[in-house]
Amino acid sequence: MSLLIDERTQTLIDEFQKHFGAAPQYLSRGPGRVNLIGEHTDYNDGFVLPVALKRDVRFVLRPRADRQVRVYSLEFGEEGSFDLDALRFDPNRLWLNYIQGMAWSLEQEGVRLIGIDAVVSGNVPRGSGLSSSAALEIAAAHAFLIASGQSVALSGPRIAQLAQRAENQFVGVNCGIMDQFISELGRANHALLIDCRSLDYQLVPMPEAVSLVISNTRASRSLASSAYNERRAQCEEGVRLLRQALPDIRALRDVSLEQLEAYRNLLSETVYRRCRHVVSENKRVLHCVAALQQGDLAKAGRLMNASHESLRNDYEVSSPALDAMVEAMRSAKGCYGARLTGAGFGGCAVALVQAGCEQAVADAIFAHYPKATGIWPEVYTTQAADGASAEQL
Ligand code: ADP
Ligand code: MG
Repeated sequence: MSLLIDERTQTLIDEFQKHFGAAPQYLSRGPGRVNLIGEHTDYNDGFVLPVALKRDVRFVLRPRADRQVRVYSLEFGEEGSFDLDALRFDPNRLWLNYIQGMAWSLEQEGVRLIGIDAVVSGNVPRGSGLSSSAALEIAAAHAFLIASGQSVALSGPRIAQLAQRAENQFVGVNCGIMDQFISELGRANHALLIDCRSLDYQLVPMPEAVSLVISNTRASRSLASSAYNERRAQCEEGVRLLRQALPDIRALRDVSLEQLEAYRNLLSETVYRRCRHVVSENKRVLHCVAALQQGDLAKAGRLMNASHESLRNDYEVSSPALDAMVEAMRSAKGCYGARLTGAGFGGCAVALVQAGCEQAVADAIFAHYPKATGIWPEVYTTQAADGASAEQL
């Protein structure tokens, strides 16, 4: 009973009491995330460097004696239910499918679950690119595991993989592994270097005197999915063509900048520039890790700036709104660097900011961004937070 119950958890407890007429026994949570650097590298077997946010999705719950699951969603204001022996996609309650999918994925892995009554609520903005979906899956995984007495049955990386499988195969969204991985394995005051090929990972200390300011452009992302597929195809094309000279490469991860320059004539100008982004971005991630380890925030910020430039000029996934946002962030005192984060064309930008200067960056965003775009943005400040947890109430 060492758990400190904050206002949000208390609200969930009160709602549980109201809906189920008893007190919940457990609390589970999974945070959202932001990627500091390493964009469009994941599907090229490369490196990413995300951070878990202070914003999370939480469940309060009580195990049941049967295999029924009843979940009340605070944000959607409705209850959904399902039977662990009859899991099927629910077209009327999309949010419930992430939870069903997680149950399905855990049982596929051989983890026998019992039913739960639960209330779920989150403050990770939904559909803004901060991965509320992974936060929901990871929080659901820990809700099921703790209720079933199986909290130690699976490793963190395995839970992340099962959550990705839930989203890929049950919900039907083709996401990578990064979001679930960081939501599960994040640590306060650390970023997480993930090797998307081997799934090796390493915590990277974030200096205490640094904050992240994240801003949602709230601009349309309608171009994002077709461009994403096109970029992936161009990367594959690059690997296919470079193999004529470099038969051992499997992905752009295996190509150095020197090799890319040497065999540039094998590629069209566009494919060359796409490859140059990925190859240089992988390098920037590793340099950024070194900079953070040395406490060199100015250097980490410069690498984030260079990442944005590469995404804008070579990968061509920025947009006028993202460029305006990044420019507004960089104009503020205490901003070490800023870049678009996520697939691009809209969504969020992230800035590395000297602690104490968060408000100056937010002020600069509100002073410049709406004027440039006619859109009112959303701004969040966070430090690197802990990954998932589950505990007795
Ligand atoms: P993102 O992961 O970028 O936030 P997605 O479209 O992948 O956006 O996932 C958002 C979906 O996840 C929501 O539409 C909803 O179905 C589900 N979700 C996220 N947060 C919650 C929540 N607090 N309660 C219920 N469902 C949620
Ligand atoms: Mg998502």
